[in-house]
Amino acid sequence: MIEHRIATILRSSQPEETLVVHGWVRTKRELKGFTFLEINDGSCLANLQIVINQDLPHYQTIIKQINTGASVEVGGVLVASQGKGQRIELKAEAVQVYGDADPETYPLQKKRHSFEFLRSIAHLRSRTNSFGAVFRVRNACATAIHQFFQQRGFMWVHTPILTASDCEGAGELFSVTSLNLQDIPRKENQEVDYSQDFFGKPTYLTVSGQLEAEIMAMAFTNVYTFGPTFRAENSHTSRHLAEFWMVEPEMAFCDLEGDMNLAEEFLKHIFRYVMENCEQDMEFFNQRIDNTVLETAENIVNNQFERLSYTDAIQILEKAEVKFDYPVEWGLDLQSEHERYLAEQLFKKPVIVTDYPAQIKAFYMKLNNDEKTVRAMDILAPKIGEIIGGSQREERLDILERRVLAQGMKPEDLWWYLDLRRYGTVPHAGFGLGFERLVQFMTGMGNIRDVIPFPRTPQSAEF
Ligand code: ATP
Ligand code: MG
Ligand code: MG
Ligand code: MG
Repeated sequence: MIEHRIATILRSSQPEETLVVHGWVRTKRELKGFTFLEINDGSCLANLQIVINQDLPHYQTIIKQINTGASVEVGGVLVASQGKGQRIELKAEAVQVYGDADPETYPLQKKRHSFEFLRSIAHLRSRTNSFGAVFRVRNACATAIHQFFQQRGFMWVHTPILTASDCEGAGELFSVTSLNLQDIPRKENQEVDYSQDFFGKPTYLTVSGQLEAEIMAMAFTNVYTFGPTFRAENSHTSRHLAEFWMVEPEMAFCDLEGDMNLAEEFLKHIFRYVMENCEQDMEFFNQRIDNTVLETAENIVNNQFERLSYTDAIQILEKAEVKFDYPVEWGLDLQSEHERYLAEQLFKKPVIVTDYPAQIKAFYMKLNNDEKTVRAMDILAPKIGEIIGGSQREERLDILERRVLAQGMKPEDLWWYLDLRRYGTVPHAGFGLGFERLVQFMTGMGNIRDVIPFPRTPQSAEF
């Protein structure tokens, strides 16, 4: 007998096919003479219905063992289903229970659980419809990202997690110690210097792979990184995590315009891919999570994003008939409420804001001729705010050195980065997409903790 995943069976298998499936029991219904099981193997939202007839040897024992949450292997033959809701069902000929689950203690009951409760059982929540759908869509987004770049000849480069540089200059770094943990108890009465260096300098977990991606772009022209990044931000918002994934393309011989065009095309590609490959899951989100999910996806794919300068955005926000909690003033960064107002209420689509004040952006962004603003761009999404931050990079050595000093950084720490401007510098640009914010945007999930399997925040990093 051939083993199958449930998604394939429901899509293309025909009655009379003999097969074996594996999965976890979602529901059991005992009727007179037979029992219905719904099993799920994570391959799709829908369950496969199994019919176990009382003629099956050891029927009573098996049925007693099987409860919601149990893991089973079922061999049998497919038959056309009499019931509503499914085309085919599996008539069991052999059932093996791998592991039962005590219905008294199994935390996932048939009722709908709150996301907050499910966060406390993150090791089991992937077995629910919502989290099954989220993590399948997350996988599809990752696939679409690689597909987009690979189709365009970008090289995937692997940038380090351990690093000595603070790319964003924002000081949100987790420092890494090379202290052997076994040494710590011996130093009980001594001050332990956890910041003991590793590379002969303080060492941190990376906040962004950008600077290293720039190194690779200066040899391979178009590259991207896609990996975990870390920020020690003690924030309690629904869009910040301490550990999140970032996609960062970097293009040599590219300016801000090219960067924005690529970012827009990139988001459209991912939405198109997910709409085509995760139809059921997207419909589920639209029905259960946020009834604008499908409309938003259509809108992203079919309409051009709005583009405006930071200065224009400030003027618009100053005139808005909305009371914001945070001040709006040229020179201050946009807060999520401002970003959301622009994307959600005013333009009702993603907005690309360009040319931010130099003082609120990182040292590596290219200074405009006005010497006040930089060639930055942020993409703001409805319901979330910033999902992408990007810029054309400063390729002029003298100006870059000045900017490094102005931000209180030491040029000698960045000697390798400055070398890229010293030897064969080129105009170049790139951006960073917060992967979880994208998944949030795609699925309509309200809290970023619910789009990553193992959320790391000040409140939760249990396992
Ligand atoms: P924010 O203003 O929301 O704090 P940022 O401007 O600090 O974001 P960048 O340094 O520009 O973030 O990082 C690039 C992208 O990474 C952001 O546009 C966002 O999508 C994502 N990102 C940044 N910080 C986080 C975080 N703590 N958790 C999840 N995603 C994040
Ligand atoms: Mg931030
Ligand atoms: Mg920001
Ligand atoms: Mg940013």
